[in-house]
Amino acid sequence: MELTILPLKFTNEHLLNDLLFRLRFVFEKVDLLNTLIDIDHTYSAQRRQYYSTKIIETVKTANPVQEGFVLILTEMDLFVPVLTHIYGEAELNGRYSIVSLCRLHEEFYTSETNPALLLERSYKEIIHELGHNVGLKHCKDWKCVMHSSSGIEEVDIKGNLFCVDCHTLAKDKGFVI
Ligand SMILES: [Zn+2]
Ligand SMILES: [Zn+2]
Repeated sequence: MELTILPLKFTNEHLLNDLLFRLRFVFEKVDLLNTLIDIDHTYSAQRRQYYSTKIIETVKTANPVQEGFVLILTEMDLFVPVLTHIYGEAELNGRYSIVSLCRLHEEFYTSETNPALLLERSYKEIIHELGHNVGLKHCKDWKCVMHSSSGIEEVDIKGNLFCVDCHTLAKDKGFVI
């Protein structure tokens, strides 16, 4: 699998480097694409959040990467209309996904800063969204990375690997972790 990471409104270089390092153990090729795509129109002033589905649509229309999977990374808080917030969104059986770091920071909940925890949470959410890209749906296994997370506790409870069933499905699509 080939993956391109596209940071938008994202400035945490240190975390980005750590994520690239980890993801390069999983994917054959991981590229970083620094390009400016305007997503300001996806902002809801009322909710003070960005509409993730519209960000994905905007990036797809701009089509900056012709092949492989494209992961948008942002620090902005994301929403879809039916939910108060989301950590990320992905096209099921598609090429595009997005993950927000906003609510993965421990500082969002406590006064504590924890870079190692931020890295682990980010990595899990990235693997989760890429799992959707290869066709995986939400899994009932609490430990499986494909378990859905509505709160940060669920992100922390789940592991960073697929369960046996999800592993089998992902492997068929060439996604092995
Ligand atoms: Zn999901
Ligand atoms: Zn599973």
